[in-house]
Amino acid sequence: MNIDILTSDQVAQLSHLISDSQNIIITCHKSPDGDAIGSSLGWAEYLRSLGKEPTIIIPDQYPDFLAWMPNTEKIVRYDKHREKCDMLFKIADLVFCLDYNAPSRVDEMEQALIGSPAPKVLIDHHLNPDVPTVLSISCPELSSTCELIFRIVWQLGGFQDLTKQFAIPIYCGMMTDTGGFLYNSTRSEIYFIIGELLTKRIDKDKIYRNVYHNYSEDRIRLMGYVLYEKLVYLADYHAAFYTLTREEQRRFHFIKGDAEGLVNIPQQIKGLKLSISLREDTEKQNLVWVSLRSVDDFPCNLMAEEFFNGGGHLNASGGRLNCSMEEAVEIVKKAVIAYENKLK
Ligand code: 5GP
Ligand code: MN
Repeated sequence: MNIDILTSDQVAQLSHLISDSQNIIITCHKSPDGDAIGSSLGWAEYLRSLGKEPTIIIPDQYPDFLAWMPNTEKIVRYDKHREKCDMLFKIADLVFCLDYNAPSRVDEMEQALIGSPAPKVLIDHHLNPDVPTVLSISCPELSSTCELIFRIVWQLGGFQDLTKQFAIPIYCGMMTDTGGFLYNSTRSEIYFIIGELLTKRIDKDKIYRNVYHNYSEDRIRLMGYVLYEKLVYLADYHAAFYTLTREEQRRFHFIKGDAEGLVNIPQQIKGLKLSISLREDTEKQNLVWVSLRSVDDFPCNLMAEEFFNGGGHLNASGGRLNCSMEEAVEIVKKAVIAYENKLK
């Protein structure tokens, strides 16, 4: 199967950029998910196979359910090691931007990233890339940045020499960005790639358990509480939303990652087209994090742009509101009414 994705000019440019660089940094977006961490680890592993010593710098903590992946201990957190990271960005001669399309997605790390004199290469699957780069490999049609990394490594002829250390994070990111291959995963290339990854003797069932069967008792009870007490079902609009306040998060000893996947569950209601999560920031007042999920052709990225200062993919988007939870709920209601034609 031909899964090549780069033009021959891009292959040449990317190969030259890599071979000419010594101080390589790999970055991904804030609140990194399985695809952000998986693609960073996989790409680092490939670069190491070429004799490079890249540093992965991430804006902030990744969820606990990704900590089992090989080489996560080598990842450097910008929020914890700011001075060291600022210095690394200054002396870098190549920076990779993985799984994000705009500098604002790295949050506090934005100045260091933009200020770095190093040429930047974007490898991403979000719409409308807007990062100043010398090379932009943007493929919004792909399931995940991990799929894109696989295709690039495959095309560059690097896959043969790689091991599980590459295959595990790549499989993990493809799996998490498709909800365990439940959505956005109908193209046959994905299964060709999985077949190849399995030749590296990864245990895909274990990877699934490591990620999805890794909850605390608190998180399971939080899930039950949200679905039973907090879910607002707007039957006429085929939409549902829920709120999660700071106090509630405290009550369930909320830790990073506990909200992951929660917003997908209401989609199990027959005919539901849109599910929205509103979660108060654990520290900052008047900051509400928004997650949106939809099915079929409902564009939750457009809704996220228009109403929630965000964006994302057609069926999975996010954003933020600088207001109280009560005001956020009103905005959700307004958004649902504005999109009523597409929902009903
Ligand atoms: P989540 O609900 O998991 O936080 O985000 C779902 C998807 O929406 C992410 O994969 C990301 O692509 C996108 N997303 C989340 N927050 C933002 C945001 O503030 N801006 C943009 N452009 N996309 C976002
Ligand atoms: Mn992704």
